[in-house]
Amino acid sequence: MAEVTGAELIAEALKTQKVEYMFGIVGVPIIEVAMAAQAAGIKYVGMRNEQAACYAASAIGYLTGRPGACLVVSGPGLIHALGGMANANVNCWPVVVIGGSSDRNQETTGAFQEFPQVEACRLYSKFSARPSSLEAIPSVIEKAVRTSIYGRPGACYVDIAGDMVNAKVNRSKVKGVSCCPPPPVSLADHSAVTEAICALKAAKTPLVIIGKGAAYGRAEALLRQFVEISGLPFLPTPMGKGVIPDDHPNCVAAARSRALLQADVVLLFGARLNWILHFGLPPRFNPNVKIIQVDLCAEEMSNNVKSVALLGDIGAIVTQLLTCVREHGWKYPSNTEWWGSLKEKIAANAEISKGLALNTTLPMNYYTVFHHISQQLPHDCIIVSEGANTMDIGRTMLNNYLPRHRLDAGTFGTMGVGLGFAIAAAAVEKSRDKSRRVVCVEGDSAFGFSGMEVETMCRYNLPVVIIVVNNNGIYSGLDPEAWKEMAKMGDLTSIAPPVSLLPDARYDQVMTAFGGQGFLVRTAEELKSALELSLSDWDRPSLLNVLIDPSSDRKQQDFPWLTRSNL
Ligand code: ADP
Ligand code: MG
Repeated sequence: MAEVTGAELIAEALKTQKVEYMFGIVGVPIIEVAMAAQAAGIKYVGMRNEQAACYAASAIGYLTGRPGACLVVSGPGLIHALGGMANANVNCWPVVVIGGSSDRNQETTGAFQEFPQVEACRLYSKFSARPSSLEAIPSVIEKAVRTSIYGRPGACYVDIAGDMVNAKVNRSKVKGVSCCPPPPVSLADHSAVTEAICALKAAKTPLVIIGKGAAYGRAEALLRQFVEISGLPFLPTPMGKGVIPDDHPNCVAAARSRALLQADVVLLFGARLNWILHFGLPPRFNPNVKIIQVDLCAEEMSNNVKSVALLGDIGAIVTQLLTCVREHGWKYPSNTEWWGSLKEKIAANAEISKGLALNTTLPMNYYTVFHHISQQLPHDCIIVSEGANTMDIGRTMLNNYLPRHRLDAGTFGTMGVGLGFAIAAAAVEKSRDKSRRVVCVEGDSAFGFSGMEVETMCRYNLPVVIIVVNNNGIYSGLDPEAWKEMAKMGDLTSIAPPVSLLPDARYDQVMTAFGGQGFLVRTAEELKSALELSLSDWDRPSLLNVLIDPSSDRKQQDFPWLTRSNL
């Protein structure tokens, strides 16, 4: 029987486990692994930084439910990928990182790029291991893939000794391992379901919150039925947007603060009570709020606020809830004071945003920019977003109509994820019959973290539309005149505000440098025509560099960011 190399075993094992995409940067000792992956039918995307490669691989996990692989070299390559692993793990997204490492007979000798990689990955993953022989590769890969998607999803690491990549073994010696099935699904305890329904029936001001766990769990169709049959108002978290369309009549996102503050019973589907939901505590929540928590992770239950725990898969539990609601013929009435109060707030907030959006002074503010973008984006586009104000304001102004169509800085608040996420989404779209648009809306600071991935987009002809909302800095910057004056006053390293970046930087030329389309945009008309041209080009990526007023800010908020009662 023929011999097989370590590289081939890794590639075949990944393929057997239905891993379809690999992102990475090759070098010694893992070049052959990437080549074997392509030979096995895995799509390989060569990136420019391992961090972005790992972001991309984890986005595949979120979008498809099967992890992407991230392939990196030893030492620094693996260390760069740790940022992506941490981001995936914190977001509960599956990813499998494969790292080359120094040869087995060189351990502890000061070998090239030697580093305790398996140990280093432990803090950033659910599982971190090194196959001890070629024969062990298929089962270790199977365990990594399985662990990444079973239970709470997350990152897994497989370390490959450099000398194992080209070493050979007779196929007959390698035991085949079959594909791990999708995660087993469990139902909530019946008495907890009954308790939840009783609490909902007694509620005066109930609220459903839909998190990205519901998106990942593909519970969209059932959740929509539940919301419509129960008549309850719902609020999506940032990446829960689109599980049910943002323009659904039961969506109360535009009255978010009031909904959170006044709800007496909250039914939480796949979202943690962390900073994103203000810990479930006052001053953002009612101190007596009753939380019904639907999650597959038992350890998550009652974090910060004691909850009624519905432990299991969201889809399965929504089915249980639906059965109960139907049996009792219960529906939350649409003519309550609560609905009236929420609708009134939605209308008032819409007025304020509209005022800002229709402002015609130049340079433009955030609201004007997002207003025009929202008019032109196709309903089925995938929106990737990052940056402080850009992401926060964009979230309220750019609607999502489909699940898993919004990817952002997420639970970890990671800036620099955008281009990697967009590359992953565009790679998936390219393999579909009818591709959807991937639009990346970035702050100028956020763009800088992974800006060289523009070359990756150009190389693979991924028609991503990047919109850089450029305010010359982090949070805010200076205008070019003020910057020039400051430069005359002395050494900029002593006096330039640390938040500022080069004013009017030509990010559009980064795109044209590699053959994509670049646009410099200052007015609403320029924005409109540049976006139209970008959206009609399916052969290459585009970048719109939208110069806005550096002092543009969010509209008045009821609460400062990250408020916590005991701070
Ligand atoms: P968000 O960012 O939207 O607030 P989080 O990432 O905080 O969401 O929470 C997502 C939650 O969803 C996690 O606690 C995770 O354990 C849970 N989860 C993921 N998939 C499922 C599923 N299929 N069923 C139930 N819970 C899930
Ligand atoms: Mg900025």
